[in-house]
Amino acid sequence: MKFDKSVEAFKEAQRYIPGGVNSPVRAFGQVGGTPPFIKKGKGAWLYDIDGNKYLDYVQSWGPLIFGHADKEITEAIIEAAKLGSSFGAPTEAETQLARMILSIYAHPGLEKIRFVSSGTEAVMSAIRLARGYTGRPDIIKFTGCYHGHSDSLLVKAGSGATTFGNPSSPGVPEDLIKHTLLARYNDIESVKACFESSPHTIACVIIEPIAGNMGLVPAKKEFMRALADLCAAHGTLLIFDEVMSGFRASLQGALPYYDVKPDIVTFGKVIGGGMPVGAFAASRQIMSHLSPEGPIYQAGTLSGNPVAMAAGLAMLSKIVATKNLYTKLESRARQLMAGFEEIGHRRGIPIVTNVRGSMFGFFFHDGAVEDYETALESDTKLFARFHQGMLKQGIYLACSQFEAGFICEPMTKKLIDRTLEAADSVLGAL
Ligand code: PLP
Repeated sequence: MKFDKSVEAFKEAQRYIPGGVNSPVRAFGQVGGTPPFIKKGKGAWLYDIDGNKYLDYVQSWGPLIFGHADKEITEAIIEAAKLGSSFGAPTEAETQLARMILSIYAHPGLEKIRFVSSGTEAVMSAIRLARGYTGRPDIIKFTGCYHGHSDSLLVKAGSGATTFGNPSSPGVPEDLIKHTLLARYNDIESVKACFESSPHTIACVIIEPIAGNMGLVPAKKEFMRALADLCAAHGTLLIFDEVMSGFRASLQGALPYYDVKPDIVTFGKVIGGGMPVGAFAASRQIMSHLSPEGPIYQAGTLSGNPVAMAAGLAMLSKIVATKNLYTKLESRARQLMAGFEEIGHRRGIPIVTNVRGSMFGFFFHDGAVEDYETALESDTKLFARFHQGMLKQGIYLACSQFEAGFICEPMTKKLIDRTLEAADSVLGAL
């Protein structure tokens, strides 16, 4: 497999764009080598500028349930663009997508939703809403959960539970970060300690109910129940960040996995059908505090963009119209992960896996991974070699041990068999 053109393109990109990329993980820093520069995608396949093709288990980091360049979604985008790419004025498509998301997600406590242009923006706005609504300054987040790159949420993962966080990046003021408390995922005692240290000041707890940013690590049911009870007891809002898991883990995202109803939910990725969209939703009462109904300011020139709304509508319509979609996607994810475990077992390489709907994750780790701290014990060097080997076999996996993978609808059983053959030969040669 040749990568000459990608190597050149990467060099050229680095002259003008920091690191040659517009989002850091794309630079392949954790696995080494040159990222293939993509020319096009079709269904489960990605094609690079050197003429290589790959089975794509990233799918733009989640949005593309039906794979690349899906016919219906592409046509909807083209038709909407022909009518104008942006108006900065209300369109009916916004109401249609709002109604559709709220009715499909089927959480009776979510009555209104506002669209933004990214997951980061959705979460940042949801946090402001929670702070403005409760009149409290502090938030609790979990180590290893990623909620976009806004200041309050860019807190060093892996810091000791219950301590005040340290910024993960220069440029994030300590003064701001002191309002972000860190707890350990799946560890209710660490959350209790946060509440004990600051019983009256915590506006919200934000969690990825199915964490996909430390690899795939689902929250435990009893942990989530206890978390919701603690929030209720302290008048603290519970925010589910479903930017990744929404319409991915199931039609109702994480909801079917827990008997808990969050106060605010953030969405992104799938609801935009591959276009830049995010959203946050809550009860009518909470949302009435948002501008222009209430005093909490939030806005966006391209929010509710008509082309993006059309893509989201086409995506969700197709999801609803496709029978047994999530059952099929989950069975493929299970086939892949069972295959990885079997190969690891046969070859004496410890691999543990998780599956939630169309999301999957595997760790080169001996024993269960239940939080960021255990995820960090994984063999990242082995992961990097595995990733490089798989890429050369035409299999495009997320380029970090700490990212989830995604199954798209065109990924057939046969293509997964092919992936498993590649995995067997790569692991056999390591
Ligand atoms: N929240 C979660 C759970 C995410 O996985 C991500 C991105 O991967 C974000 C928020 C940020 O979304 P975006 O990259 O669209 O800003």
